[in-house]
Amino acid sequence: MLSSMKRTQSSHLNPKEIKSGAERKFCPAFYITMKNTTIPIHEHFNAFQGEGLHMGRAAYFIRSYGCPLKCPWCDSAGTWHKDYRPVEGVKRMSYAAIGKLITDADARTVILTGGEPALFKWEPLREHIPSTTNLHIETSGSLLLHDASDLDFITVSPKWNKLPTRENLIYANEIKIIVEDAESIVKWEKQLGAILGVSFENFVRLRVQSSSWKPFAVWLHPEWSERDNPDVLNSISNTIKAKPDLYRAGYQLHKLYQCDALDPNSAELVPLGGCPSKGY
Ligand code: SF4
Repeated sequence: MLSSMKRTQSSHLNPKEIKSGAERKFCPAFYITMKNTTIPIHEHFNAFQGEGLHMGRAAYFIRSYGCPLKCPWCDSAGTWHKDYRPVEGVKRMSYAAIGKLITDADARTVILTGGEPALFKWEPLREHIPSTTNLHIETSGSLLLHDASDLDFITVSPKWNKLPTRENLIYANEIKIIVEDAESIVKWEKQLGAILGVSFENFVRLRVQSSSWKPFAVWLHPEWSERDNPDVLNSISNTIKAKPDLYRAGYQLHKLYQCDALDPNSAELVPLGGCPSKGY
């Protein structure tokens, strides 16, 4: 169902067509995938989606290694931070090997996450998994998503260190805004509106109301190290009460269950939490 819905959208708006040749030439993802037929994998595990429109749904996670954004509170710093680089080196896997993991797990939903999974080309994975498998991606939206038409669900979580592109915001099935302090929501509304060239509120209202673009939601997530901060929580609560048709309150349910850790192939969680001693 999701597959057909997403592919219908793609026929109207293809980011490959929007990007000029010059922009594509300098896209890091294009460069990396032209050189490599394997992907650096930080971890893979069977769990459930802990956030967003698919919260609670069984899912197999493939977490790629590498992210250029270096967010100060990154909760996946094991995928990029110099202090947590694996001593034995980063494991690389072929598309066939990744596909076997997914097939062996009989996974119906696969979440491509990171790090920044948009650094890599995922379309070849389709050859190695059942056609009914739903491929989701969780990205900052800052890099060209050149697999957009092969993905069934796109979560864009914008980050200040490298802003999302207009095309990726338009393509997103959901947008996850990380609320770091009491001013975060207003600042993101202004910034995302500037990128889109229209008021963010109008964009969201149109997307939410338009059945041809569903599913769509904008989530307000407390940044995990601020999850007990009343200023952060109250700013989310008050925004949702003031704009009930635009936003939904988000949370990272998987961090409460620690479901990931039950799979021996999961890696240790390495959150920076805005710690200056880590260098950020
Ligand atoms: S939070 Fe996400 S985008 Fe930011 S550094 Fe970590 S993996 Fe990269």
